Amino acid sequence: MFDVLDHCQVNELHVRDDADSGLKAIIAIHNTQLGPALGGCRFIQYDSADTALEDAARLARGMSYKAALAGVPQGGGKAVIMKPAGHFDPVALFSEFGRFVQSLQGRYITAIDSGTSATEMDIIAKHTSYVTSTSTAGNPSPYTARGVFEGIRAAVKHKLGSNDLNGVRVALQGVGNVGFVLGKLLDRAGAEVFVSDVNRVAIDEAMKSFASGVIAPDKIASADCDVFAPCGLSKPINDDNIDHLRCRIVAGSANVQLAHHELGQTLHERGILYAPDYVINAGGLIYASLNYHGHDAGEIHDKVQGIYQTLDQIFGESEQDNMPPSEIADRLAQQRLQKPLEHAA
Ligand code: NAD
Repeated sequence: MFDVLDHCQVNELHVRDDADSGLKAIIAIHNTQLGPALGGCRFIQYDSADTALEDAARLARGMSYKAALAGVPQGGGKAVIMKPAGHFDPVALFSEFGRFVQSLQGRYITAIDSGTSATEMDIIAKHTSYVTSTSTAGNPSPYTARGVFEGIRAAVKHKLGSNDLNGVRVALQGVGNVGFVLGKLLDRAGAEVFVSDVNRVAIDEAMKSFASGVIAPDKIASADCDVFAPCGLSKPINDDNIDHLRCRIVAGSANVQLAHHELGQTLHERGILYAPDYVINAGGLIYASLNYHGHDAGEIHDKVQGIYQTLDQIFGESEQDNMPPSEIADRLAQQRLQKPLEHAA
């Protein structure tokens, strides 16, 4: 356990094992230099407690980096609940989780992640105020989409030398909550958007609304285009498809876009500009954080637009130091975490 925590630089771990409700939960807090840790609550089946712990610790560090580069007053933390294999009472389980969050007295604020939705957050909110993404808090996806749109603009400026998206060809993987809104923004800006999804209804809606064409799910990553925008599942860039990419930019909302860290270097060597996932998809976190702190829509919008400047800086340093943007982003996040006062929101 300590090896995992050392590796992820997580030094605070909270565990709740409650026999009555069946709750087995871990909350990992990576860093609270910039503010209370904010991160989603994952509710999935794990093979073992070790796997759950690894997930919590790794994701907590990712949230610290994401918050630091998004410029929001939050640290990084993550909760995982091991989903019971048999029957369980969701109200009892998430109520107990709410009490667990409350016991940390605000060091950790919870939110939606894989396996949880506003329904679970509403149950949690009956037992703690340290919760975002309830049914009254609003949907963060349009903000994520706006942030990705700004990130694509920054990438196009660096890679294609153009300040507008007119005629830019985008291969959009996944037209769900984020991808659909992103597609509309790109289309409105003059880009040509080709879509792919495993859900036929989503494809039909995209074709009616903004898409110029459809690409099969197994062909989208290798499509000849300017921008490959992964907005579906995680690990869209992996050892199986890296040699077949024909795009000039990878910029989308998906979490964990590189199957492993070294692929950032491979993309860089191949001259494909990669917008680091946790930087470009931070719009939802910005919304969750600023909305939680009572900021208005205008302030949230301005902060989301700031993703353009952050990526502009990362791409500039990447070129100057001849290093992958993924490594520059980590370096910048670590610097901000070491000098919190200079970067406080
Ligand atoms: P979603 O489930 O609403 O949409 C995902 C879409 O991808 C679905 O339409 C699904 O059918 C499609 N899809 C799944 N597998 C596919 C495949 N192999 N090929 C093509 N399409 C496929 O999810 P979302 O909320 O739009 O999020 C999309 C991604 O962005 C996820 O990785 C998510 O973790 C990440 N993300 C989302 C937010 C947010 O605010 N929603 C914030 C940060 C990151």
